[in-house]
Amino acid sequence: MKANKVIYGNIYTVDKKKPKAAALAISDGKFVYVGDEEGVKEYIDKDTEEIRYDEGIILPGFGEGHGHIAPGGTEALFFVHLSPMGTLEEHLAAIKEFIKDHPELDVIQGSGFIPTPDMGPKGPTADLLNGLTDKPIVLADIGHHSYWVNHPAMERLGIDRNTPDISDGIITRDDQGNPTGYFREGAMDLLKELTVFSVEQYKEGFLHYQEEYLAHGETLILEPIINWDTTDNAALACHELDMEGKLKMHVYAAYQVFQAEGHDTMAEIEHAAELRKKTKGRMFELSNIKIQIDGTMPGTPSTAYMKQPYTDPWSVEHQHHGQLRFDMETLIKIYKKSHELGFTVHAHAIGDGALCMALDAIEKALEQTGSHDYRDAITHLQVVDRADIPRMAKLNVIASTDPHWFDFDPEYFQMMVAVLGEERAENQLPMKAFFDAGVTVTSASDYPVTNPAYPLAGIQKGVIRQLPGRPDTLHNAGERVTIEQMIEATTINEAYQMLCDDRLGSVTVGKEADLVVLGDDITKCDSEHIQDSPVLGTMVGGEWVYTHA
Ligand SMILES: [Zn+2]
Repeated sequence: MKANKVIYGNIYTVDKKKPKAAALAISDGKFVYVGDEEGVKEYIDKDTEEIRYDEGIILPGFGEGHGHIAPGGTEALFFVHLSPMGTLEEHLAAIKEFIKDHPELDVIQGSGFIPTPDMGPKGPTADLLNGLTDKPIVLADIGHHSYWVNHPAMERLGIDRNTPDISDGIITRDDQGNPTGYFREGAMDLLKELTVFSVEQYKEGFLHYQEEYLAHGETLILEPIINWDTTDNAALACHELDMEGKLKMHVYAAYQVFQAEGHDTMAEIEHAAELRKKTKGRMFELSNIKIQIDGTMPGTPSTAYMKQPYTDPWSVEHQHHGQLRFDMETLIKIYKKSHELGFTVHAHAIGDGALCMALDAIEKALEQTGSHDYRDAITHLQVVDRADIPRMAKLNVIASTDPHWFDFDPEYFQMMVAVLGEERAENQLPMKAFFDAGVTVTSASDYPVTNPAYPLAGIQKGVIRQLPGRPDTLHNAGERVTIEQMIEATTINEAYQMLCDDRLGSVTVGKEADLVVLGDDITKCDSEHIQDSPVLGTMVGGEWVYTHA
C-alpha cells in the first residue's frame, strides 16, 4: 500500500505498545504505518508527500473532556465580557459600551463577573443596572452558576414577587419578597427564554471556536450541555455543519436533564435519544446525558454539596452542606435509563457529598442492570473524600479533572478557607491520587469558565499547579502529575471517555490520522514553558486543518 503522506519526526504515540516512533504513514485518512524510518520506505512512491520535522514533538490530537462550546462560541461573538476581578463601576462601563456598539441585539447578554461586596450583601441587583437600557440584560457569573438581570428582563418574563421558589435554585428576594435580580443555579432556568440563540448564531459560534482551538491542537471535544438554552438549536447547528463538511473537530455532546418543577427527567432522556438519531453524523454525536448533582462554591451560601457542613458562620449556624439538585431514587433511574438507551452519564460534582452520591447511584444502578461499558464520568471533583477514589476505580468511573483550575490566587484561596476550613481547602482538586488508584483520568477546562482554555496550558498547569513564576499560587503540590500523565489525560483518555478510543486518541495503525505537531519537545522542555510551545500544525483525518503560517 502506498501512502498519501509520510511524516518523520519525534513521534510520541501515546500507544503503550509502541510509545515512540520516527516515521508514520497516512493513507485514506488513517495511520497505515507507525515505526522507524527504514520500515516506512515501502509506503512511499512518487505521489507521496514527505514532511520532516527535525525538532519538537508529534502527538495525537488533543482532547477537551468538558468544554461548553455551545454557549462559549456564541458568547465570544455576541456577549459583553466582564472582567472577573473588575469593579462594579468597570462592569457598568463595559455594559454601556457594549449596548452602544450592538443596537441589533434584542437582549443584552454578558458573562464573567464575580459577585463582590460593592454589589450588595445578597449579591448583585437589578437596581444596579437601572438606566442602561430598556432591553433585557442577562449576565452570567464567571462560573455560570447565576444570572444577574435588570428589571426589563424580569418584566418581559413576568417574574415578580408571586413567582414561586425553585427547589434546586435560589431566587434572591428583598424583604418584601420581590426578586432582586440575582438568580442562582436552578432558578436560572426562569431566564433561559432570553438566552436562546438561533441555529445560525450557533453555527457561527462553533466555527469561531473551532478555528481558534484547531490552531492550538484540539481535535476532539465533549460539549457537556448541548441544550444550554433549553432548545435543540445547538445540536442542530452541529449537525448542519457536519453535513456541510465544515465540522473539522470530533464533537461529542451531552444533553442535560433535570429533576426540578416543570421537568420530566425520563422524558428528557428519551428526547435526547431522538435528537441523537436525528443529528448523528461523521463528526458529531450526542452520546452523553449530563446531570448537575450539586452547585458551586464559594457563595452566599455555597451550593456545592459537602459531606461535612461549610465553615462560614452562616453555614455553621444552619449546618449548611450545600444544595442537591437530585434525589437518590431519581439518580439511579437516570443511570439505568441512560445506559438502556446507550448513553454515558456525565455528572457534575464539586463537593465530596455529591461525588459520593453519584457513586452510590452508579453502584445501585449496576446492581440492577449488571456491568456495562458506558464509562460514566464525574467532573470538577474539587473536594474529594479519599475513601471514594478506590470506588471510582472499581466502578470504572472516569475522573474528568480541571487542571486549568489547579492554581489559586492567595486572596481567592482565603475565600475558600473561609467556607471550607483549612484542611478541605488545602486538598482541593486532586489528580495524582486518581492516577495512583488506577482511575482513568481526563483533562477538562469547563470553557468558557476557563477562557482561553488551550490544551497546552492545561497540560502545563497539571504538571506545575501554579502560575509561571508565581510560587504564591501553588496549590496542593503533592497532586502534581508527570508530563506523560498529562498527555495521556489529554489524548487517549479523552477518547476513552468518549468511547472512541478504538479509532481516535493515539498514533496507532488503523486509527484516524489526528495529530498535532509542536515546535518544542514538551516532554523535555522547562515545565513553566510547556504552554509556550508553538503549534506548527494540526491534522484531522489525514488533512491539515491548521498550519503555522
Ligand atoms: Zn461545565
